[in-house]
Amino acid sequence: MADDWKTKTKLVHTGSRRSQYGEMAEAIFLTQGFAYESAESAEARFIKSGDDEFIYARYGNPTTRMFEDRIAAVEGTEDAFATASGMAAVNGALTALVKAGDHIVSSRALFGSCLYILEDVLGRFGVEVTFVDGTDLDQWRAAVRPTTKAVFLESISNPTLEMIDVRAVAEIAHAAGALVIVDNVFATPIFSRAVEFGADVVVYSATKHIDGQGRALGGVICGTKDFVRKVAEPYLKHTGGSMSPFTAWVMLNGMQTLDLRCRAMADSALHIASALEGDPRLSRVIYPHLPSHPQYDLAKATMSAGGTMLSIDLKGGKEAAFRFMNALEIWKISNNLGDAKSIATHPATTTHQRLPADQKAKLGITPGLLRLSVGLEDAGDLLADLQRGLAAV
Ligand SMILES: *Cc1c(COP(=O)(O)O)cnc(C)c1O
Repeated sequence: MADDWKTKTKLVHTGSRRSQYGEMAEAIFLTQGFAYESAESAEARFIKSGDDEFIYARYGNPTTRMFEDRIAAVEGTEDAFATASGMAAVNGALTALVKAGDHIVSSRALFGSCLYILEDVLGRFGVEVTFVDGTDLDQWRAAVRPTTKAVFLESISNPTLEMIDVRAVAEIAHAAGALVIVDNVFATPIFSRAVEFGADVVVYSATKHIDGQGRALGGVICGTKDFVRKVAEPYLKHTGGSMSPFTAWVMLNGMQTLDLRCRAMADSALHIASALEGDPRLSRVIYPHLPSHPQYDLAKATMSAGGTMLSIDLKGGKEAAFRFMNALEIWKISNNLGDAKSIATHPATTTHQRLPADQKAKLGITPGLLRLSVGLEDAGDLLADLQRGLAAV
């Protein structure tokens, strides 16, 4: 039955809730509230809602619940809570869990807004955070302590595509009694499900591959029923971070093609990375399934494909990177990722501009580094466009 379905089948069918009309496509229930049959049934629903009973869209909604059930089935967790953005998911998973006096260990190579939550927000409420080099297991071992409530990491870091051994970090964290929270955006649930390697909570920015067409902001927290409904949901539904039903509908449609899109994009990414590697104008080409990647063995063992992202470093620094970008015709200069349209990003001057120079250097964000999100265009066209960029350097 549904539990035995392969991912591609789950992406199309799991979670569907049909109304009395038997509609084929998922319906959008654009409603904030729900009318009760009687005062008694309103009272009963506030005491305990059944599976198909909703109270208010901030708490839950049929379309949103379809998305939650579908992504939970694909990630392989008991439940999921859909959020207004990826950052609402990261903030919700962390903030709902900790209190003053708790300790968190986090890898240092993080999406800028994740760093803001850990460094600026949680610190103000008395939560202590220790940052480690996520690839160095000794640093994780040295950092955990009895008050460590959670460890946080991005399984593949942005923008240098460093891989973290989730299984090894989870062993260290669990031995210390800490929960493992993984931001799995770059890996996608198609190529690597973090729960398989011991993650307790997996967060996604659905804005990226799940929508996949650059339309809507969204996020999701996947985990056990206990974590999702007793820890994350109370915090999120009362503080306003829930996903809108319209967004859930966009994401449900995105999921139906998620596997096809991710695989096509990863095939092109490998083709492009292989073709560019060794070019004399580049100091490095970073792609998890290139043998030159520092964690190639880990990437091969834990990811069924190398992902949809690659990074290249131009020897000529910022000037070369800008000339390269300005010569592109197909690739768009933007900062989203996982989109059907290929995107080139210069992290040092955009997504990671805020970081001090020494931090950038530490994270490998050099002036010539470009992050490339490979889209659904023809791989040959994409490569030819990049060659045009290189010629302009
Ligand atoms: C984009 C992104 C986020 C934030 O997601 P939003 O939907 O933009 O809020 C968090 N983590 C990673 C790794 C991301 O790429």
